[in-house]
Amino acid sequence: MDDYDVVIIGGGPVGCITGENIKNGRVLIVEEHQSIGVPLQCAGLISKNGAKELGNPKGVVNKVRGAYICSKSNMVKIGNEEIRAYVFERKVMDKDIAIRAGKKCDFLLKAYGEIEKDKKGYKVKISHLGEKIYLNPEVVVGADGSKTITGKKLGLVNNKNREILSSCQFEMVNADCDDDFVYVFLDKRYSERFFTWIIPMGDDRVRVGLLDRGNCYNKLMKFINENETAKEILKNATITEFSSGSLPIGYLERSVKDNVLLVGDAACHVKPLSGGGLYFGAVGGKIAGEIISRYLNGEIDNLELYDKKWKEEFGNEIKNSLIIRKLFLKLKNDTLDEIIGKLKTKSELIDYINKYGDMDRQASLIIKVLKIFRFWMGFKILKDLL
Ligand SMILES: Cc1cc2nc3c(=O)[nH]c(=O)nc-3n(C[C@H](O)[C@H](O)[C@H](O)COP(=O)(O)OP(=O)(O)OC[C@H]3O[C@@H](n4cnc5c(N)ncnc54)[C@H](O)[C@@H]3O)c2cc1C
Repeated sequence: MDDYDVVIIGGGPVGCITGENIKNGRVLIVEEHQSIGVPLQCAGLISKNGAKELGNPKGVVNKVRGAYICSKSNMVKIGNEEIRAYVFERKVMDKDIAIRAGKKCDFLLKAYGEIEKDKKGYKVKISHLGEKIYLNPEVVVGADGSKTITGKKLGLVNNKNREILSSCQFEMVNADCDDDFVYVFLDKRYSERFFTWIIPMGDDRVRVGLLDRGNCYNKLMKFINENETAKEILKNATITEFSSGSLPIGYLERSVKDNVLLVGDAACHVKPLSGGGLYFGAVGGKIAGEIISRYLNGEIDNLELYDKKWKEEFGNEIKNSLIIRKLFLKLKNDTLDEIIGKLKTKSELIDYINKYGDMDRQASLIIKVLKIFRFWMGFKILKDLL
């Protein structure tokens, strides 16, 4: 048990993708749950490109072509004939990725991993079925999701460099909606700091959820009971699954310390505007795998290059999205409603979004759209910001 070169704490999709991309050395993935992929904490919406980065895993239940963006009293439809994203059954997807990783890495399930400082760097203490196991790998990966005890113990993750949002989500059957489009509700009466969604899973199944602070269950029930579009879609629907979770929004200047690096949600590799973490997670996990391989074969003498490489790939996208998110948080609900109302009338702008829209690079798109908007609402928006 003690001859592992790498120990990955967390068997989620990003921990597994990191593991499968380590080309040399023995790798152990430690997962606290008895099975990979449960409990569910995700809406399962992934861009076509994101699915490719994840290695096109199993578990697609629906394909979508765009979104209805709904505000307090307006709705605009974005999208055309082109398939933009897939809806995944996360339990199936996560298990499939883990099966792939299992061909190269060992797993230890029902095992809780913690880093401990020692003279040379960090070692790992594992609590497994009443036993304590100590390992001294060359590299430790913190793939332990949003709660990341690893990141906190390293002092890399704190309340200043990230915000944690809570979520509540139901899977419901017998819903009546357009299966080809997701519904996004930008309406602060339900979620003040994020948004609410209805995602069609096909065959009259949907996921209905929201992310925000505070009591998200009460907020979601208010949405289901009061929002006119939701009431129409869900009038005959029944809840068949309940899930809650948390999402980190932020930017870590450093995600490497000594022989430990952070990946996925632990490293805040999440899109701040949509909450999607699987695309950046997969890209970052592959980079981590490559850097660890080079470190193990002596090509580089530390892991710092990991920070440089992921920042080159998507660091600016996260930073710019955080700035746009700050503006969003200041906007009044009525202004948001007016923006959606105006957007509805600007067909050339909708065409532009349909042509250049990229689910994985939202900040870049929003900046381009704002330029085209020519700030016709600039005054109004400015008033909210002051
Ligand atoms: C409500 C909600 C909706 C979302 N919807 C989407 C979406 O539609 N599309 C999208 O791309 N992203 C979405 N996300 C984000 C996405 O779920 C995450 O970004 C993704 O799961 C991150 O993968 P990960 O492997 O980094 O972390 P996780 O999936 O959280 O996996 C971490 C793993 O580590 C394990 N673990 C934690 N601590 C320890 C420990 N000490 N020892 C052993 N094991 C440990 C956990 O049990 C877990 O299995 C959503 C998130 C939420 C909360």
